[in-house]
Amino acid sequence: MDDYKKLADLIFPDIKKSVADYEKEYPERNLKEGAKVTRYAPSPTGFMHIGNFYSSVINYVLAKQSGGVFFLRNEDTDSSRELSGAVEYIRHVLEHYHITPDEYEYRDIHETAGNYGPYIQSERKEIYHAFIKELVSQGKAYPCFLTQEEMDEIRATQTAGKKRIGIYGKYAKYRDLSPVEAMERIKNGEKYTVRLKSSGNFFNKFKFNDLVFGEMEFPENDIDIPIMKSSNLLPTYHFAHLVDDHLMRTTHVVRGQEWMSSVPVHYELFKTFGFKMPKYIHTPLILKKDGDKIRKISKRLDPEARMTYYEERGYPVYSLIEAIMTIANSNYEQWREGHPDADFTEFEFSPKKMSSAGALFDLDKLDNISKNYLSKLKASEVFDGLDEWSKIYDTDFNALINKHKDYTISVLNIEREQKKPRKDFACFSEVKDNIWYMYNELFDSAFDFSFLKHEEDAKKIISTYLNEYFDINDDKDTWFNKIKELTDKMGYCSNMKEYKENPDNYRGSTADISNVIRVALTTKLTTPDLYEIINILGDAEVRARFSKICG
Ligand code: GLU
Repeated sequence: MDDYKKLADLIFPDIKKSVADYEKEYPERNLKEGAKVTRYAPSPTGFMHIGNFYSSVINYVLAKQSGGVFFLRNEDTDSSRELSGAVEYIRHVLEHYHITPDEYEYRDIHETAGNYGPYIQSERKEIYHAFIKELVSQGKAYPCFLTQEEMDEIRATQTAGKKRIGIYGKYAKYRDLSPVEAMERIKNGEKYTVRLKSSGNFFNKFKFNDLVFGEMEFPENDIDIPIMKSSNLLPTYHFAHLVDDHLMRTTHVVRGQEWMSSVPVHYELFKTFGFKMPKYIHTPLILKKDGDKIRKISKRLDPEARMTYYEERGYPVYSLIEAIMTIANSNYEQWREGHPDADFTEFEFSPKKMSSAGALFDLDKLDNISKNYLSKLKASEVFDGLDEWSKIYDTDFNALINKHKDYTISVLNIEREQKKPRKDFACFSEVKDNIWYMYNELFDSAFDFSFLKHEEDAKKIISTYLNEYFDINDDKDTWFNKIKELTDKMGYCSNMKEYKENPDNYRGSTADISNVIRVALTTKLTTPDLYEIINILGDAEVRARFSKICG
């Protein structure tokens, strides 16, 4: 047996399966032509942010629209940085937005689907080791005994000399160590990581085609990157990407633009094994407007960077997906106009139509999309959404709307079933601010009649209306004619044209009279249709509110 093989056996004594065995175990997928296999591969080291979500939606759409497979892979090789609850939160977000993976492994709820697993990297150690073992036995990877101090020193020297950072060329002290010497050191208990013995030349260039950024040129990788960490014997991201996306038969890797700089390493790894590279879609940065500047959205500075923001505020699932699709492809909105009821996955998403300069995610735009969407729902559907949201985020309000369920649906129905429905709220947390005054339990009588030229008229207007005109059974025309009559009776002007010409001849106009009634019933100067408000509040409540003012 040659020495490299002996070295490989010494490092991986228990690994019996070969790369070829695994290739047979995870064969090419039997899918129809053009079907894409995509994956969302988060590291549970932080809470999901809008950029992660963006990638997951695009992965999902690509698989769905092509009749392919979308799977979820938990990239948990960095156990020291794992954040408790992050895995569960990823599952929650995917479920909430119905971005359902076809294949996954949820250890927390003991659920697995798919034949290409395990889908949790920490459970794939044996597979990675088979691949690393093969490289070591061919002399294409080697144990490196550099200590942390030595590596810090190399880094400091490279930084001071303005050199590229990394273990390459003369810095790769152990790449040419003989396997016999390496075995001796291992037997002596020396710590090591396994590094790729790079065969690249930094001064050679290769061409790479990204589906968003187009054809690009990169220098070859010449860095002996670590492929197995000494701490937990797991591979680094780069090596796991190679093994997993090859064996899981991924056709399209959709990942954040920050991974673009790793392309030379990935190119070399795939070449080393003779595997076909998947296609890459590096998703451009998500940008936001900040004053008149446009900048990258920041997890630290911008609450809307975190996915929790959207659930806390109660944006409907539909609205966020629409907003994301709108920034993904600029022709999405036009498509949506022509296909108002289609599922978003029916849209033919094209990576080529993504702007490599970045995607501007505008909260005003999201609000517009959401207001439009909510305005078109039935009142009972808005109620259901409000119920679901308030159950978690406003339990008092939840109890109130359920106590008065039919009443609440009538309130939500004001100016809804018409050609141009009202667009008062973009998310469920904004509903209460719009309708609180409809509930006796929330109504607070902070009336302000200072909009009148003669503030002292308010009481008289209300008592006259209450005693001489108010009848809950009036139809809308009768009701409005009575307001006009009341207007004239109070010395106000019921003819707006005349009023505008000679405002000084009158104490005010019909608008003032109805606003007095409006404020008395709602405390607000702008509300939806007053006639509908009166009818929903009902005779007793209207009288009670008026009496609060005129005693
Ligand atoms: N685990 C990597 C991350 O969370 C995945 C990148 C990729 O999709 O390949 O950023």
